[in-house]
Amino acid sequence: MKMEDYKLFTIGPTQMYQSTVDVRSNVVPYFRTPEFSELMLDNKRLLKKIQFASDDSEVVFLTCSGSGAMEATVMNCFNSNDKLLVISGGTFGQRFEKICEIHNIPFEALKLGEDETLVASHFDKFEDKGFTGLLVNIDETYTGQLYDINIIRDFCDRNNLYLVVDAISSFLADPYYMEKNHIDATIISSQKGLCLAPGLSLVTLNPRMIEKVERNNVQSLYFDFKDYFVNMKRGQTPFTPAVGVCFELNDMLHKIDEQGIENRIKEVEDRCFYFRNKIKELPIYLPSYPLSNAISPIRFEKDIAMDFFAYLKDEKHIMVNPVGGELGKRSIRVAHVGDLKFEDYDNLIEEIKVFFGM
Ligand SMILES: *Cc1c(COP(=O)(O)O)cnc(C)c1O
Repeated sequence: MKMEDYKLFTIGPTQMYQSTVDVRSNVVPYFRTPEFSELMLDNKRLLKKIQFASDDSEVVFLTCSGSGAMEATVMNCFNSNDKLLVISGGTFGQRFEKICEIHNIPFEALKLGEDETLVASHFDKFEDKGFTGLLVNIDETYTGQLYDINIIRDFCDRNNLYLVVDAISSFLADPYYMEKNHIDATIISSQKGLCLAPGLSLVTLNPRMIEKVERNNVQSLYFDFKDYFVNMKRGQTPFTPAVGVCFELNDMLHKIDEQGIENRIKEVEDRCFYFRNKIKELPIYLPSYPLSNAISPIRFEKDIAMDFFAYLKDEKHIMVNPVGGELGKRSIRVAHVGDLKFEDYDNLIEEIKVFFGM
């Protein structure tokens, strides 16, 4: 069996939709043309629409994976005169911490213990402490915890912080309202909820963040957002974009727009609830903190997660998301984004039963 024929219950790359596969089969065209500019401006318009971003927001199209966009955003939006609060409840939160360290941006981490829910009182000791910005992975994909944006927004409002949200795994799985929640920058990536090939990341910035970026003197050639703002006015990027993925994006954004963003999210949620409801009868459980609809981080009573992962992959050609680190011995994650049907989850559940000899 070819690697491409496995059924993917992974968060990214995801099980692709056929229309994306069809778009991918075309020759990648040359891009310094008015026609490609038009496609990019259309991408920008639709993306802002489904993120509920303000009309005067800008989108930066980066050729890199999500972590590149996280680093580029932090570098462009902040400098050593800032003081950031990083919500750190897993490996993606730790990645933000590391980025701040490397770029000499002062920060403190709001650390969450294993299985600890983020609540309003966590912020008490950070009030009026001179913070200028907050970084959060709204779905910490390592644990699957979906943080409460209301608590975070209220803290940022009270303390007048810039709010940067990595919505890479949450966007298109959970409701997302950029302007309403006073989010200054949103980071997403092609291979997660959009279900496209990897290689394209998108950063949406509101006017007050654009202004801050323009005042900042970022030390980077490739990741200088100012260059991207100027070029994007005419639908271009300073360097060669992931041209093929930009076409996949346009196809997907139109499909989502026609369907309605709420309906797209509901589709993911329906699959998520279907799966979570059905596993109640199995010897596995879910953590008690609030979860994103993007993935179900299922836990086993014993350290059998890696055996189960290998069984599904090698015997059944089904791919689920392993978990790194200590948690990975007892946990795997099942994604609900992608072109998946209820029957696919029925099949997966059957395999769990076989594995447990039920
Ligand atoms: C997937 C993901 C990223 C990016 O990972 P890459 O491998 O660099 O694409 C960043 N943040 C979160 C929350 C993610 O789920």
